Amino acid sequence: MKEKKIETFLAHDGKKAHSKGAVVPPIYQNSLFTMKDWDDIDKAFDDRTNSYIYSRGNNPSAEIVEEKLAKICEGERAKLFASGMGAISAVFLSCIKNGSHIITLKNIYGPANNLLETYFKPKFNIEITYVNGTDIKDFKDVIKPNTSLIYLESPSSVIFSLQDLEAVSKLAKANSIKTAIDNTWASPLYQNPLKFGIDLEIHSCSKYIGGHSDVVAGIVVGSKVDIENIFTKEFELLGAKIAPFEAWLLLRSLRTLKIRMEQHQKNGLQVAKFLESHPKIQKVNYPGLESFPQYELGKKQMSGYTGLMSFQLKTSNLDSIKTFFNGLELFQIGVSWGGHESLIYAPAISYLKELNKEQFEGLGISLGDMRISVGLESAEDLIEDLTLALSKI
Ligand SMILES: *Cc1c(COP(=O)(O)O)cnc(C)c1O
Repeated sequence: MKEKKIETFLAHDGKKAHSKGAVVPPIYQNSLFTMKDWDDIDKAFDDRTNSYIYSRGNNPSAEIVEEKLAKICEGERAKLFASGMGAISAVFLSCIKNGSHIITLKNIYGPANNLLETYFKPKFNIEITYVNGTDIKDFKDVIKPNTSLIYLESPSSVIFSLQDLEAVSKLAKANSIKTAIDNTWASPLYQNPLKFGIDLEIHSCSKYIGGHSDVVAGIVVGSKVDIENIFTKEFELLGAKIAPFEAWLLLRSLRTLKIRMEQHQKNGLQVAKFLESHPKIQKVNYPGLESFPQYELGKKQMSGYTGLMSFQLKTSNLDSIKTFFNGLELFQIGVSWGGHESLIYAPAISYLKELNKEQFEGLGISLGDMRISVGLESAEDLIEDLTLALSKI
């Protein structure tokens, strides 16, 4: 039979986990697995990354999800973690040593940036160079003999700027530097960085992969060698393992990933176009708009767009900004994104606590910036909600 389409693969769970003909695999709520005899356990230890021994290593509920995600990301192997940050910290630790240099972007996900700045830098003497990343020269110019990792996020957080994945991975390979990407925005369906030569692909499964706002989890996908290395060191020894129940919820989520992403994309594009044409909106940051500065690069390396975007209100009056923010009904106020429900968040709420206005404007963020996660509701209803809230200011 010919290779199955992604949605077919996602809708079926394989025969492996089906006992007694159950159509949904059970939750393997086991801390350990027993063996037949001395030789059996001896063999399991010899091949520990492929054996069920103890659930801080492999667990069948996690493994079925790992196999699916490895396949749709076009990688050889994947490892699930207790959170996206668990996966990100494992990747950093696996690619650096004391005194290493990391190149990353000015606009990476806030907690990843905090981890580098407030933890790795002082504790492990790490050097970090932040670049815009929109030009390959940004990376080329700052490579040093001790550069061991280029850490990407494309589209990046808040402003969604892109990096040319093929060019960065070529440059890194020529200099024996590892590459990793936080691919959460695009989901495994709309961007496959491993195909462009990136070594490690990370997702926060708390976003689109989970999709129901009921799981916190993360995954790293890559080659067999890289993932088995991470398995036996950063995964098993640091212990950020996923609970079997949460892995099982992710399996539930994967069955609808394709249709959910299609709806997020359709709604996202409609809402972005509406916002772009509204007289009270200064600017919309969304890679699916033709006006997006890197639209062509996005088309080259992504096969679709999702529901997360940001836009800037024309007003910089904080009272008006709050009136709009508080005036929405369908868009609920909250952090995170990628679930069934539409959400709004204002990056200034975080930045005003840490930085002054000039500092955060230096990051390309303004007081009137709004980040919205467009959910699975009707786009017409969502646009009506935005229209009403905008009419109040
Ligand atoms: C949420 C998020 C993470 C972190 O994931 P958690 O599961 O919350 O630990 C990493 N990167 C991006 C882009 C995110 O949005």
